[in-house]
Amino acid sequence: MGKIIIAIDGHSSCGKSTMAKMLAKELGYLYLDSGAMYRAVTLYALRNNLIDKGKLIYDKLIEQLPKIKIGFNKNLKTGKSETYLNEENVEDEIRQLPVSNFVSSIATVAEVRKRMVKQQQLFGKDKGIVMDGRDISTIVFPDAELKIFMTALPEIRAQRRFDELKKKGSSVNFEEILKNVKDRDKQDTNRKISPLKIAPEAIILDNSYLTRQEQLTWVLEKANKIIKENEC
Ligand code: C5P
Repeated sequence: MGKIIIAIDGHSSCGKSTMAKMLAKELGYLYLDSGAMYRAVTLYALRNNLIDKGKLIYDKLIEQLPKIKIGFNKNLKTGKSETYLNEENVEDEIRQLPVSNFVSSIATVAEVRKRMVKQQQLFGKDKGIVMDGRDISTIVFPDAELKIFMTALPEIRAQRRFDELKKKGSSVNFEEILKNVKDRDKQDTNRKISPLKIAPEAIILDNSYLTRQEQLTWVLEKANKIIKENEC
């Protein structure tokens, strides 16, 4: 009763997933990271030589799409949801730079998007879900009760991603990450199909100088108000 869909879109590496996870936990909702799905397809393409000298072999990818099964399972130790590609846990590998550098190209492919969107809509059919991505409030759930557009300064976003990857033991270069963040924003905003844009009803959250807790409090207040109205 009263369950809603919360759609979070926004720029790369601005903490959408962190926020969405915290929000889902507070509300007892399902959380789905739609970017992880595009990342998993990219990893498949990289592993299966569907990218040659930096160019995607488009026909081969389309042909092999039915072979790509993406799922999410809870890690019983950490309680966190992890991404699976054809039954293999690929959670860490899809966050590495080789995938990050190619994912926005894969995400421009209409057939890929069609499949991902269908699966995402199925996850949300009973509502009670928080999903983050680039087209969640515009294409996947245009009727979502709460739509949020998140952003932050590119340098701040790159620093956060740099710290995150370093903590996981990856050898990373700040400039390379900053370039990746800016390139992805550009590609995501300018692509023809489902570009990243602010939905008319979305509320904007610039978290450059906000703590996680401040953001959570802000969004929770808005979500709870809508949930209450929905219950009436
Ligand atoms: O959210 P994340 O940064 O992990 O997403 C990786 C990439 O996947 C984005 O840069 C974007 O190109 C693509 N994406 C998308 N639509 C979504 C989610 C992600 O095009 N709903």
